[in-house]
Amino acid sequence: MTDKPSRSAGRIAVRPTLKPRELMTDTPDIAGSWTAQLITLFPQAFPGVLGESLTGKALQDGLWQLQTYNLRDYGIGKHRNVDDTPAGGGAGMVLRADVLEAAIMDARRGAKGIVPLVYLSPRGKRFDQAMARNWARMDGVTMLCGRFEGVDERVLEHFNIQEVSLGDFVLTGGEIAAQAMIDATVRLLPGVLGNAESAVEESFSTGLLEHPQYTKPADWQGRAIPDVLLSGNHAKIAEWRRQMAEKITREKRPDLWAAFGENKTHKQDQ
Ligand code: SAH
Repeated sequence: MTDKPSRSAGRIAVRPTLKPRELMTDTPDIAGSWTAQLITLFPQAFPGVLGESLTGKALQDGLWQLQTYNLRDYGIGKHRNVDDTPAGGGAGMVLRADVLEAAIMDARRGAKGIVPLVYLSPRGKRFDQAMARNWARMDGVTMLCGRFEGVDERVLEHFNIQEVSLGDFVLTGGEIAAQAMIDATVRLLPGVLGNAESAVEESFSTGLLEHPQYTKPADWQGRAIPDVLLSGNHAKIAEWRRQMAEKITREKRPDLWAAFGENKTHKQDQ
């Protein structure tokens, strides 16, 4: 295994900068910045949409970094096989335990600090804002992206890998789920969002969904922006927003509303 800057190098630090790749791979924790390690058959899928806008700017600025481990490089034989037919029969292919082991070991050797190891999987615990907040407090995360029918079960047991799901649906691979989770986590890192307040007030951070937002034009298709928002009275605006957040949460997400009520009572009891 070399760190030669080829497309198929096992360990590639993806940062849209002009720095030599060797420098990045030899010191993957350049600024001790938050690191997403991706074990995937499709490293070229990264940074993908994470390279755009705020997450892209933060990646360029070194506020976080991305390391991909190409599963193909750990494949067996001339054809670098990574998968085989399921034991017991059935459709599809399963990623091999020994191939995954080599890639996972390599990634974990490169991980610095507290870095959870997770497998993106529809069987996993549903990803949410609390998990994003938790990961943002750590030094990064190692993500195993499955493909085909998934991974050999023994790998999950052996490495004690936590399974995390994007939701109750089945994707063809873990890469899109990984990008969604990295996006949600990275935007919570200090300095990534321009306005420090925007992460504090938005949906889920208070336990409520966010109030409605409006901008110009003031009148559109016969619909006006609520008067209070144009009143300049900040106390009234804050109160209106709080009421709307409560109303929307109650109507759209009774489960969140119930949890919010319980939390409030709990806090008052303390
Ligand atoms: N046979 C599996 C699905 C495999 S889908 C099953 O029935 O459970 C192929 C890969 O896509 C999985 O290995 C996983 O890494 C990824 N994936 C699919 N759905 C996902 C979801 N909801 N959340 C996160 N990853 C998912």
